[in-house]
Amino acid sequence: MGNLESIRNPIRIKALIRLAKPHTVHCKDESATARFVHNLANAIAAFFTKSAGAQESSPTTLFVSLVGDLGAGKTTATRYLLKALGYEGKVKSPTYSLCEEYSVDLSSQVSLHVFHFDLYRMQSPQEWQEAGLMEPFSNPEGSTLCIIEWPEKAEHTLPPLDLVIRLDHMNDAQSDLARSVTLAAHTPKGESILDRLPTSAS
Ligand code: ADP
Ligand code: MG
Repeated sequence: MGNLESIRNPIRIKALIRLAKPHTVHCKDESATARFVHNLANAIAAFFTKSAGAQESSPTTLFVSLVGDLGAGKTTATRYLLKALGYEGKVKSPTYSLCEEYSVDLSSQVSLHVFHFDLYRMQSPQEWQEAGLMEPFSNPEGSTLCIIEWPEKAEHTLPPLDLVIRLDHMNDAQSDLARSVTLAAHTPKGESILDRLPTSAS
């Protein structure tokens, strides 16, 4: 039953409870997904601008994965996220390239590098490392956001994920546009993103 160490240590209990609580929204159509992702983008932008302003402004990296079936909306959500972060160009699906790279200015001081991965076509979990795609993260410069579709294809070769976003078709007889979107924080960094979301979005 209970975790004895947690019972003896209330601080640890609090951390476990906080990190365990996912944030789910029901998006009835694509524009609802776009609105939710817009709130998420604001939370991510605030996280990076705050981190950059902190005294010990070491490079900050945030790892976000997107999980869900083909057609669930992972690439669509990433497009809305990049647009809401201020990227004005075309966002190509990285299905064939494995990775697409972007740069957006969050403020006059903070430029964010964004790496968008789609690992669906990888033949082995090591393929992205062998292709040198992990290099930007071993020695990150500045603020870096890494978005990974199909993280399960990389198995144990991934760095720890801060935030996992799950998109699912909802069983809605009237519409195939409805999705449930669940955000789960796996680290304190991910938690600080969830804390920045407006409460009305829950
Ligand atoms: P994935 O990357 O998960 O395989 P895509 O983003 O490529 O999926 O495709 C999702 C498709 O579903 C797009 O054509 C998008 O326009 C459509 N769609 C319909 N309703 C929604 C919704 N509520 N949220 C996200 N995408 C939606
Ligand atoms: Mg996709």
